[in-house]
Formats: sequence, structure tokens, C-alpha cells
Amino acid sequence: MSHVDALNAQIPRLHDAGKRPLITRNCAILPFLHFMSPRHTRLHIPGPVEVSPETYAAMSAPMIGHRGKEFQTLYASMQPGLQSLLETTQPVFLSTSSAWGIMEGAIRNLSLKRVLCCCSGAFSDKWVDVARRCGREADALQFEWGQPIDPSAVQEKLATGLYDTVTLIHNETSTGVLNPVAEIAAVVRQFEEVMLVVDTVSSLSAMPTPAEAWGADVVLAGSQKALALPPGLAIFTVSPRAMERAKSVPGRGYYFDFLEFLSNHEKDMTPSTPCISTIFGLAHTVKKIEAEGIAARHARHAALNALVHEWVTANGFEFFAPEGFRSVSLTCVANNRGIDVAKLTSLLKSKHGLAIDGGYGKIKGKTFRLSNMGDETEATIRHLLACLDDVLPEVC
Ligand SMILES: *Cc1c(COP(=O)(O)O)cnc(C)c1O
Repeated sequence: MSHVDALNAQIPRLHDAGKRPLITRNCAILPFLHFMSPRHTRLHIPGPVEVSPETYAAMSAPMIGHRGKEFQTLYASMQPGLQSLLETTQPVFLSTSSAWGIMEGAIRNLSLKRVLCCCSGAFSDKWVDVARRCGREADALQFEWGQPIDPSAVQEKLATGLYDTVTLIHNETSTGVLNPVAEIAAVVRQFEEVMLVVDTVSSLSAMPTPAEAWGADVVLAGSQKALALPPGLAIFTVSPRAMERAKSVPGRGYYFDFLEFLSNHEKDMTPSTPCISTIFGLAHTVKKIEAEGIAARHARHAALNALVHEWVTANGFEFFAPEGFRSVSLTCVANNRGIDVAKLTSLLKSKHGLAIDGGYGKIKGKTFRLSNMGDETEATIRHLLACLDDVLPEVC
């Protein structure tokens, strides 16, 4: 295969069937032409988010076997970076699944009695149903969408002695609410037999997620949110006591069995064939995070989020989440002005090639969401806001 053919082969997305190859010269920049294509819609939805050309390039490394030395080296090389990100000394496991795989897996591995699900949005509400479908008794500790979870309500529920597992979402992506995980975790820790599972899907690497300082038993995230990778890879860590609990829980299945993850981890491997290309991408991202610095990455997310917040206020909009509980990786804007949100999202896409979200589930049209997760910069966020300014008069 010629070098030019090899470059073309790296960008199958560009090839409409029957068309001439797009690359006719030997030029390394050309594989990334699709980012300049008029067909490319830049993602500002809260996941999947925009994946950079550099990440795609890292993912295009030639395939390797998952039971060989090269994979073991790759796997081991990422551990320190992932442990720093999760602020844990425990292994960080890689699951070839989206986050829900591990959200379900946590139930299957940890719960023998009854699950208490802290609910206040689409993702947290759904966990009750998922726990029940895993054959567990589960109750919702329900708060209104847009409200944070109240630690004292968790305390009251756990005092009944009915529960052995609590599910909690750090950053409820559907509502833009950031929950007080440290306070809730402190409550859960008063109950020795209760395991705390924390979903940090849309917060990992955008803000601190200190697994051990929280005292959380499972902390999990997915690749397609603030890590800015394609979907299909989940990242998680398990406390030693939770690993101990898993040993006594029957029916853990195979694919999400935490003990399988641990025994394979000891060989720098995963239980089954993982999404190796995405893992190449993750290795690149881990290096990039190390170069930027974790604190600097958090600060960048906060600064970009503040720019979005300024725009919200300047344009007479309100926030769906109350002050003090607002996410820094995305903004859920309340549509108090009664604009045509569907028209806003479609104009942004057709005129400017930008995708934002027009509200999730029952708050569709009543809210819209702007993501600043991942590799965004001041320039890309200012561009998004300028494009919003451009189309806003047409939707009021
Ligand atoms: C996106 C998201 C999920 C769902 O992740 P999948 O990758 O679809 O499994 C779960 N929880 C939160 C908080 C999310 O933002």
C-alpha cells in the first residue's frame, strides 16, 4: 500500500462510496481534513464531545494483541496517570462498555439487600430501574429535577437499616447539578455495611473526583465526556472493602465481575478483548493531562464554564441548577425567556455547524445545555457564544 493510500485508509469517514480519495498528495496534515469539512458538526452537547485530530491520530496506531507484552506495557503506563486523576491508590480498571455497564456492574457486584438510589435527574432516576432489572430491591430517594441531593435525607433513609448500597451521581448531566458528594459520602460512611457508588461520568478530569478522600467504594466514568474520547470505554476504581463484598455476592456474571477485573489487572490486562484503539486514545489523553496538569485542567474547565455563565446572565437567562450546586463542565440554561429552543439548536447547526443540546427528557425545550467539557479553549467557547448571539434574535 502506498503512503497516500495508507493515509486515505485512516480516514474512512471521509470516503463517500464511489468518490475519489481525498488525499492525492503525500501530506501528513491531510488525514484531518474532515475537521474542516462543511459536513463536520462541532459538538457542544454534553457528550459525546468533540474529539481532537490528535486523539484520532493516536487511536490510529496499528492494532496489537491484548495478551502480549505491548498491551501490558500500554496498560501499566496509564495506571499512575489514571490513579492521579481519580486520586486513588487502588487499581483503575478499563471496561469495554459505556458507563452504564459499570453502573449496572456495581449493583451486581455490591448489593445483596436493597439499593438506595439518589435521584434528581435523568441519569440518576434511571439507576432505580437498572437496579431492579438486575433483580435487586431498589428505592428512589427522589428530589425534583434541578435540585441537589440532601445529605440529611440520605442519613434518614440509611438509618432504617434496609440498604447496603447507595447510588449517586456527582454531576447530573441532564440538569447541570453538581451534588455535594463529600457531604453525602460522610453520611454513608457512618453505616459500615453500606457501599457508595459514585458516577463521575461528566465530571472526571473536569473537576476533582477524589475517590479515596470521599471514601467512595466505586467511582466510575465514561470516555466520551470530559476525557474527550470516542464512546465505548468505561474507567472505574473499587475500594478494597467493596472488592471484599463482591466475593460474597452471587450472580455477578462474567463481563462486569469486579474480581475478574482485579485478577486481570494483576497481569496488566483486561478480562476480555478491550477496545484497544480507544485505549491508545486514552493513553494519549493521560499524557496530555499530565502535561497540562490536573489542577490546570480543572481550572480551564472552571474558567470556560464561567464564560458561558457570563453569557447566560448577560442575555437574561437563568440557570436550571441553584447557586452553589452548578456544574463546571456544562451549563443547563433555564428557558425563562421562552425562546424557541428547537429552532435555536437547528439554526446553530445549519448556520454555524455547532451542536448544542435542546434539553433532556421532560425538560426538553424548557432548558438547553452547553458543554465546555474536554479539549475546549477560550477561542472555541467564545466562538460558540458568538454564534449563539448571532442566532438568538431569530428565536425570540
Ligand atoms: C452520559 C452519562 C451517563 C451515561 O453514560 P453511557 O456512556 O451512555 O453509558 C451516565 N451518567 C452520567 C452522569 C452521564 O453524563
